[in-house]
Amino acid sequence: MKIILLGAPGAGKGTQAEVISNHLGIPTISTGNCLREAVKNGTELGLKAKNDMDHGRLVPDEVVIGIIKERLAQDDCKNGYILDGFPRTVPQAEALTAMGVTIDKVIDIEVADETIEARLSGRRVCESCGASYHLAYKPSKVEGVCDACGGKLVIRKDDEPQTVRDRLQVYHKQTEPVKAYYEKLGKLYPVQGQEEVSDTSALVLKTLEA
Ligand code: ADP
Ligand code: ZN
Repeated sequence: MKIILLGAPGAGKGTQAEVISNHLGIPTISTGNCLREAVKNGTELGLKAKNDMDHGRLVPDEVVIGIIKERLAQDDCKNGYILDGFPRTVPQAEALTAMGVTIDKVIDIEVADETIEARLSGRRVCESCGASYHLAYKPSKVEGVCDACGGKLVIRKDDEPQTVRDRLQVYHKQTEPVKAYYEKLGKLYPVQGQEEVSDTSALVLKTLEA
């Protein structure tokens, strides 16, 4: 199964990707994590992407399309995958189609902007492994320490309030049109993401069966 997770930043795509990944035994490909990894390692790609990411702007299409092409060619993608954070523009969706990829379902997690702003302000991420936590909704066992690897939990630079508002604008302008692209193909499945994480997960799993 090939699945796309759509939704605003902070809609909970990463969390739901993990749920689906465990349920179906397929990997999650997160362009955000790939990019942050490249930034951390100081690669040429990372240097190119960092400025855009820190300011809440999208990284150029050709950069992320290149990342995805390379990643989907790897062995573990043979039996399907979940795309988290890609495509984020209509040209990216078109590129995916042009690669010959047939997506089974696009799950769109719907959350109001005000909820997003509240959620992102409490988000903490592990600087070592990228695992995501939330002060109120998904606290780590020990404050400031990653449950998975013991790494330090930090605030992402792009989770600062003004940057969050910028990212939401970018989302409405550049990513929302991707919904229409998949709706026309009959592949769009909206899911309410406003309530508890477990409620959303239940709806997501139901959507997979539909
Ligand atoms: P979130 O979903 O919380 O916004 P991500 O971790 O998916 O965060 O992405 C972080 C940043 O990485 C984005 O704000 C953007 O700068 C960049 N990025 C990730 N995926 C893409 C993409 N498909 N196209 C362009 N930029 C991307
Ligand atoms: Zn960690």
